[in-house]
Amino acid sequence: MKEILLLKDGEIVLKGLNRRQFEDVLKKNIRTTLQPLGRFEITSAQSTICVRPLSEDTDLDEACERIGRVFGIVSYSRAALCEEKTMASVLETAPAYLEKQLRAAKTFKVEAKRSDKKFPLKSPEICRELGGTILSRYPHLRVDVHHPDVTVYVEIRDFGAYVHADPIRGAGGIPVGTGGKAVILISGGIDSPVAAYMMAKRGLRLTAVHFASPPYTSLRAEEKVVRLLQKVSRYAGPIKMITVPFTKLQEKLRDDCPEELFTIIMRRLMMEISQRIARDNDCAALITGESLGQVASQTIGALNCTDEAADMVVFRPLIGMDKQEIIDISYKIDTYETSIEPYEDCCTVFTPRHPRTKPILKFVKEAQQRAGFEPLIEEALQNLKITQIQSED
Ligand code: ATP
Ligand code: MG
Repeated sequence: MKEILLLKDGEIVLKGLNRRQFEDVLKKNIRTTLQPLGRFEITSAQSTICVRPLSEDTDLDEACERIGRVFGIVSYSRAALCEEKTMASVLETAPAYLEKQLRAAKTFKVEAKRSDKKFPLKSPEICRELGGTILSRYPHLRVDVHHPDVTVYVEIRDFGAYVHADPIRGAGGIPVGTGGKAVILISGGIDSPVAAYMMAKRGLRLTAVHFASPPYTSLRAEEKVVRLLQKVSRYAGPIKMITVPFTKLQEKLRDDCPEELFTIIMRRLMMEISQRIARDNDCAALITGESLGQVASQTIGALNCTDEAADMVVFRPLIGMDKQEIIDISYKIDTYETSIEPYEDCCTVFTPRHPRTKPILKFVKEAQQRAGFEPLIEEALQNLKITQIQSED
């Protein structure tokens, strides 16, 4: 039996004239994620995208898993294509294909959609005939049109007739790449990978910036970030990772700035450098994993100081979330176990004993200017390391 995948695109529907463009990006993203599994034909009509495997032995379970991580798809179904576009073929295919679901259910109903008006039976007739056949094959079943355990869908389209059970919920969101490009400031922690996932979900293509301070931070710490990004890229697609050598800047910070301002000035340096990298990489926004009140550098006062260092828009998708809510998402996207591996981050190098929770911008800027970071910023920007991240599987 030939199987296909039918995908419903989501918010794309709202996009009016841009729709075509959105759909093209979505199809390209689907193609990219399915590419390791073989060749597929991908077509679209009436807010449904049809994915048809072109070889017999394609792993459709894996294809479904992957489709479930593509933003822009609200739901998807795995469907059987009837051998012929005839009622006899529908009656033969549906009860056999959905045997497992029908045996497990107590109640069912049939829903038919006939977009090919040349098909001889109308939708209610299709439902009646198929309902009757299913009842005689599975006598334990009852019809329940309001709350059935299983709905059997029959769709008669131009290219053929197919049947499937209830659709599976997709990843939602907007296709990655349709919202432009942004820089995610990524650490090895729990929060920033979640922030990356959330903004990719809103259609952004990501470039990741990571600050490393060897020898205070190890190569293993950086490798951990690579592994986190590989997990994120299962949703966000390929990610360009840029590692910034941060050691000299942090040492200058330690030597030439007041201790209670270490963290806030470090955060400002990160924003400033990230913004320059963003501009060079055609990115129009910065993303961080900050959450209001979580630590001293994430109070309103501190965030005002951090914000002032960049004039590009800064997205903080976790700002109103509790740690547990963030952790729940990190489990879902499978970054949690990696995030809690105990490697040091440059944020934990030279941490002040008493960081200012209400820093005064004027003093922060004065201290920063007095130290004079510009030559070292230039030097860091000359020594960026680039790693192209693809998902592992
Ligand atoms: P995370 O779990 O993402 O590390 P956090 O709660 O530990 O977040 P901080 O360490 O204060 O918070 O960092 C706040 C944000 O600053 C992070 O979410 C991330 O966006 C950015 N950031 C922190 N460290 C780095 C780093 N080494 N490189 C790039 N960005 C960083
Ligand atoms: Mg951190």
